[in-house]
Amino acid sequence: MENNVSRRSFFKFGLMGIAALPIVGKISSAKAEACPAKEPAGKQIQKEGEGMGKMQKFVADATKSKEPTYKAGQNCGNCKFYNKAKADGGYAPCAMMANKFVTTCGWCKAYKAV
Ligand code: SF4
Repeated sequence: MENNVSRRSFFKFGLMGIAALPIVGKISSAKAEACPAKEPAGKQIQKEGEGMGKMQKFVADATKSKEPTYKAGQNCGNCKFYNKAKADGGYAPCAMMANKFVTTCGWCKAYKAV
């Protein structure tokens, strides 16, 4: 009898776990979408090592910054120079980068929290 209960519980919770997989997958892909994989077409994109980006040590992935002033959690998406009103596919113009589009996941030494 007890064996039946534990077997039933095993299948019940096992099925719940399987049912939850698509939800977990959606949460994971939602996080992945935060950093755009594709640059928006027809926009001037700020690249690492070019122009103002070179001077300000711009990196497209904030977590890769080697600057001592970088703090975890800082990125273009929460910087006051990131013009969210003109955002396009995870990119927006940055006033510090001559209004070239920067990725929301980027970072530079001119970072200023919103
Ligand atoms: S000033 Fe802000 S938005 Fe512009 S590149 Fe630097 S961190 Fe990103």
